[in-house]
Amino acid sequence: MKLVLGSGNPGKLREIGALLAPLSLEVISQGDLGIADGPEPYDTFLENALAKARHASRATGLPALADDSGLCVEALGGEPGVHSAYYAGREGGREERDARNNELLLRKLGQKRAAYYYCIMVLLQRFDDPRPVIAEGFWRGEIARAPRGANGFGYDPLFRLPALGKTAAELDPAQKNRLSHRGQALQKLIGLLNEWK
Ligand code: IMP
Repeated sequence: MKLVLGSGNPGKLREIGALLAPLSLEVISQGDLGIADGPEPYDTFLENALAKARHASRATGLPALADDSGLCVEALGGEPGVHSAYYAGREGGREERDARNNELLLRKLGQKRAAYYYCIMVLLQRFDDPRPVIAEGFWRGEIARAPRGANGFGYDPLFRLPALGKTAAELDPAQKNRLSHRGQALQKLIGLLNEWK
């Protein structure tokens, strides 16, 4: 089966691609087909993930997989949450935005540092599929006092796993995929695929 990934985020594409590699799927990213990121205008992760998957499937005529994810910080009432990608504004490229987001997050936090990553993953057989396959994942940690590590993307240099004494950016990619919100959501979704037929 051929599947299009509804994301232009290279960090996500690397992680999702590695998890799907052992399956008998031909996975193509929408960017490789010349399709730009779709809008994600909603206030819920679920609606945004559905919108992204529909956008990719409508544009290609292929089954589509998309996620919406974010970092939820308890002392900030769950923010940046669904607004994680553009927390510190929309200007600049992805890496510039990530750096500004991390600086803003560090400035806002006091003593309380608990946080979790959340991911919801949607698979559609076609853009108007009435029965999307949906799975979610959480990854609990805390926000470090300073960035560490060079792997991963986004908030990973600040997302610290107390049990490991490392940030997500200090994990190797396979270890992040075993533990992460995205890895968990995708493993669950793969488990549901048998019911997709
Ligand atoms: P979206 O799902 O395209 O709205 O973007 C999710 C945003 O949440 C990313 O741009 C990051 O800022 C953040 N995010 C989600 N998952 C991760 C992750 O695994 N590591 C670091 N940041 C993440």
